[in-house]
Amino acid sequence: MTFSSIDSGAPIAPATENEILRAAAHIRAGELVAFPTETVYGLGANATNGEAVARIFAAKGRPHFNPLIVHVARLQDAEALASFSPLAYQLAEHFWPGPLTLVLPRRPGTNLSELVTAGLDTVALRMPAHPIARALIAAAQRPLAAPSANISGHVSPTRAAHVAADLGDKVAMILDGGDTRHGLESAVVTIANDTIVLLRPGAITAAALTEATGAPVTRAFDGGATPASPGQLASHYAPKARVRLGVGDPAPGEALLAFGPHAPTHQGPTINLSPSGDLIEAAARLFSALRELDATGASAIAVMPIPAEGLGEAINDRLKRAASPR
Ligand code: AMP
Ligand code: MG
Repeated sequence: MTFSSIDSGAPIAPATENEILRAAAHIRAGELVAFPTETVYGLGANATNGEAVARIFAAKGRPHFNPLIVHVARLQDAEALASFSPLAYQLAEHFWPGPLTLVLPRRPGTNLSELVTAGLDTVALRMPAHPIARALIAAAQRPLAAPSANISGHVSPTRAAHVAADLGDKVAMILDGGDTRHGLESAVVTIANDTIVLLRPGAITAAALTEATGAPVTRAFDGGATPASPGQLASHYAPKARVRLGVGDPAPGEALLAFGPHAPTHQGPTINLSPSGDLIEAAARLFSALRELDATGASAIAVMPIPAEGLGEAINDRLKRAASPR
């Protein structure tokens, strides 16, 4: 192992076979590893481990939970996580491995964390072409959740030193693969009525998508990268039950979403996001807990106050959205 940056202590390692195996062990242990893809460097975690996924949000300092792209090395691993329509297969056959992300219906009963898809019934999948990314995923034998390896709001990293500058003290390792090729994010698409819906423009053009499949492309953003009409696409998960925030004393008939060691005793359905008050654990359980309490049929979900520091900001952001009138 080499430490190429003395001041930050950033664990940059050359991507030799041995270092890739070491990185894979870190992934299986729930830690974060930055690795090169053909687009930008990714901040990777085991997508089946909710707390590992929560560490991604904590490391990036993201103030909200958005669904992350799940990276796989083989088509069969993608098929295990999502259902592919014929058009989805066409896109995968033509553009994978490569910088195309497919948002597809998430299969029920997989071991994917709920946080990685932000509670949605869809999952964003990509098979990267970069040999180091592929070797890492294969060695980890886990799907990897991986957004760009930068602090939220900073530009995406295209070399290991960029990652070290932003996240050097937050990752177990940075696999160095030199400069990335595209320096542009993957194109993100979904499929609706045999049409390709471009959710985020990227390294593959709309023209190339149509040329490969014969299917038309519509855009779900207004020229920028922001969705034009978020209402059209289920952009975030919301429970059916009413959500009440900052509750110290839940009413009878309500479900209780508790946090920390001082939860009130409550007769109705109760889930404590983290009895020890750990925000990483709470983030990992947030979406599955909301779903579970919603499924009890309770008219309302009462939520205890959750501290606003660290990951608490993203947790509170999502709870506020869930509580806003629809
Ligand atoms: P990043 O994490 O910065 O690489 O961005 C991931 C992109 O994929 C964002 O534009 C997300 O909105 C999009 N994305 C990921 N999962 C989904 C999903 N299930 N539905 C819609 N968009 C998604
Ligand atoms: Mg990014």
